[in-house]
Amino acid sequence: MKPSQKILVIDDDEDIGEFVSATAQAMGFDCTTTTNAKAFLESLTPDTTLIVLDLLMPEMDGVEVLRLLGEQKCKAGIVLMSGVGKHLRETAEQLGQILGLSIVGHLQKPFRLAELEDVLAKGAGPVISPIVLRGAQFTQNEELRGAIERNSFVLHYQPLIDIATGGITGVEALVRWQHPERGLIFPDNFISRAEELGLIDELGWLVINRGMSEVRQFANGDGKVPMLSLNASVYSFHDLKFPDMLVSIAEKNGVSPATVTIEITESGLIEELWRTLDILTRLRMKQIKLSIDDFGTGYASMQQLKNIPATELKIDRSFVMDMESSEKDRIMVRKTIELGHELGMSVVAEGVETREQLDLLRLYDCDCAQGYFFSRPLPPAELVSWLKTYRSGLVH
Ligand code: C2E
Ligand code: CA
Ligand code: CA
Repeated sequence: MKPSQKILVIDDDEDIGEFVSATAQAMGFDCTTTTNAKAFLESLTPDTTLIVLDLLMPEMDGVEVLRLLGEQKCKAGIVLMSGVGKHLRETAEQLGQILGLSIVGHLQKPFRLAELEDVLAKGAGPVISPIVLRGAQFTQNEELRGAIERNSFVLHYQPLIDIATGGITGVEALVRWQHPERGLIFPDNFISRAEELGLIDELGWLVINRGMSEVRQFANGDGKVPMLSLNASVYSFHDLKFPDMLVSIAEKNGVSPATVTIEITESGLIEELWRTLDILTRLRMKQIKLSIDDFGTGYASMQQLKNIPATELKIDRSFVMDMESSEKDRIMVRKTIELGHELGMSVVAEGVETREQLDLLRLYDCDCAQGYFFSRPLPPAELVSWLKTYRSGLVH
C-alpha cells in the first residue's frame, strides 16, 4: 500500500535533514530532504502533506519560504524548526497564520528523537492510503448526517460570572454529540465538518431549540433566568430569516430575546462581515445580544470593530492562559478590556482557571469570567445543583 503522507524537509544543515528524513521513513512516511530553497520549491508537489522548515538558512530564509508558500496557497501542514529564541518563532508562526498557512508544530534545536516523532505523528497523521481515508470520511459524514436527523446531541452549560459581585450573569451552551459507540464527542471534532457538508444550519437550530427549552431551569429563587449564550456559525447568518426565527423560538419557550446572546467568532465575522452586517443589525433591533468570540485570534481591524454592532467581547483563552507568566499577554488582555469598554461593550474573559488570573482580571476591570476555576461545562441537571450550591455560598 502506497503511503499517502508525503513529507518535505528543508534545512541547510544536511545532518539535520537526514536525521528528520530517517525518522520519518522509519515511521512509514515518504520523505524528501532538500538543503536549499530552489530544490525545495522544485520538490514541492500538491500532494505534499507536511513541510518541515528551517527558519534560519543562508541564501533564502524560512520567512521568505513562508511567503512563497502563502502565495501558492499551500495546504500542507508546516512544522517550523529553529535554533533561535521563542520570539522569532512566534513571529514566524503569526506570519504563517496571516498568510493562511497551517502551522502545525515547531521544533526547537537541538531536539530529541521523541520530540521529532511526536511532531511528525501529530502533523502528518497516521499512514493511511487515500482510498481508506476517503472511505472513513464518507462513513463519518453519513454518521453525522444521521445524528442530525435523529438529534443525537446534548448541551452542556458553563456559567459566566460577574467578577465584581460574584453573581451568575449567564450560561453558555456548548454542544456535544452523543455517539452510540464512541461516547460524547466534542464540537471541535464535528462543527467544521457540519459546515463543509452544509449541515450547520440544521445543527444550529437543534442547539437553539434545545437551549431555549432548557434555560429556564437555571433561574434563581426569584425566577430570574440567566442570559443564554449560544454559539452560531457565520454560515447560518446567510439566511435573512435567522433573526425572526430565533425570536419566535424564544417566544415559544417564554424566553425574552433580550436575555439571549449569539456568539460568533472574530475570524468568522471578519471573513463574512459585509454579507452579515444586515443580519447582525436586525438581531440587535430585536434586542438579541451579540458577542465577538475568541477575540484576539481573528485580526479584526479597528474600522471593522467599530462597525460591528456587538454588545460583548470575549477574550480568547489563549491570552488568559499565559497571563500570569507573560507580560505581553497581560498587556493584550488589559488593552482588549479597555478597547471593549471604549466601544461600549462588556468584556468576558474565557478559560479562567486560577485565582491569580481572576485577580488580575478584576484589577483590569474585566466584567465577566468563565472557566474551569468556577466550573466545567455541565449537563443541565448537574448545572442546576452547581448553581444551587454556588448561590447559597454567595448569600452566606
Ligand atoms: P468556545 O465558544 O470558545 O467555547 C469555549 C470552549 O472552551 C469550550 O470547549 C469549553 O469547554 C472550553 N473551556 C471553558 N473553560 C475552560 C478553561 O478554563 N480551560 C480550558 N482549557 N478550556 C475551557 P468545547 O465545548 O470543546 O467547544 C469548543 C468550541 O466549539 C467552542 O469554543 C465553539 O466555538 C464551538 N461550539 C460549541 N458549541 C457550538 C454550537 O452549538 N455551535 C457552533 N457553531 N459552535 C459550537
Ligand atoms: Ca463561545
Ligand atoms: Ca471562545
